[in-house]
Amino acid sequence: MRVLLVEDDMMIGEALQGGLRDASYAVDWLTNGKAALEALAVEYYDLVLLDLGLPGLDGLSVLSALRAKNHQVPVLIITARDGTNDRIRGLDCGADDYISKPFELSELLARMRAVLRRNNGGANTLLSNGLLTLDTVTHEVSMSDQAGFQLSNREYALLEALMLRPGAILSRSDLETRIYGWGEEVESNAVEFLIHALRKKLGSHVIKNLRGVGWMVSKAN
Ligand code: CA
Repeated sequence: MRVLLVEDDMMIGEALQGGLRDASYAVDWLTNGKAALEALAVEYYDLVLLDLGLPGLDGLSVLSALRAKNHQVPVLIITARDGTNDRIRGLDCGADDYISKPFELSELLARMRAVLRRNNGGANTLLSNGLLTLDTVTHEVSMSDQAGFQLSNREYALLEALMLRPGAILSRSDLETRIYGWGEEVESNAVEFLIHALRKKLGSHVIKNLRGVGWMVSKAN
């Protein structure tokens, strides 16, 4: 999944970007509100992590502008420790949840998963299409007759994108968008390489290719 991180504190931003990448997210990181609005106008994101104290256009203004345009992307705001009023205003401006500084990465990741589950219309932490089950917390994949096992970060990111929409065809650029953030070099055959690795682990029938169009996992019967 692709996340836009908007945070002007360089230390926090770097730590979050690294932690989110380790958790299989594609991350774009910006340090001001104006750039964030510009990116949100043209790029696809599954979630925005929005610091409220930003130079120039602050986080609440970014959020208000987004919702005024009826932009539906889930937003998790990052507030100061004593920012009760900010938290209330943020939620009333259309934020989906908040976290207060300082926080543990593990709590942020859990809140992000909860927001993403609600946004994807499910309460279940397991994604299943009847053939495969993907655990969105542990990142384990299992098949009916096998014990679960881990995937690499990018294998997970790719399979998750497909498993969120069983039966839907995702193109190469749809998949690249969900796997790679800005500045990460994408080899021209990266998606094929990951698909090949996944098929080798899971069996070639689990991911279907529609030549020249894209890839899909089948819908549960
Ligand atoms: Ca800040």
